[in-house]
Amino acid sequence: MNEPQPVTLPNGLVLQCDTCRNETFEYHRWKLQATGMTFMGMDWANRDATCFVCTECRRIHWFHPV
Ligand SMILES: [Zn+2]
Repeated sequence: MNEPQPVTLPNGLVLQCDTCRNETFEYHRWKLQATGMTFMGMDWANRDATCFVCTECRRIHWFHPV
């Protein structure tokens, strides 16, 4: 399910960890709402953010739903 894997972003770039330059990530989908950010009347607040967790340093790289 969360097999560590390289990630290619929609713009064609390969995701590289900001901190340790690792290129292997675990994939998660987390509710933006679960972060404590709630925006009344904004439907995207209920959607899932796309999150990649670095397998080396555990940094979370997360992306806003399109
Ligand atoms: Zn890292």
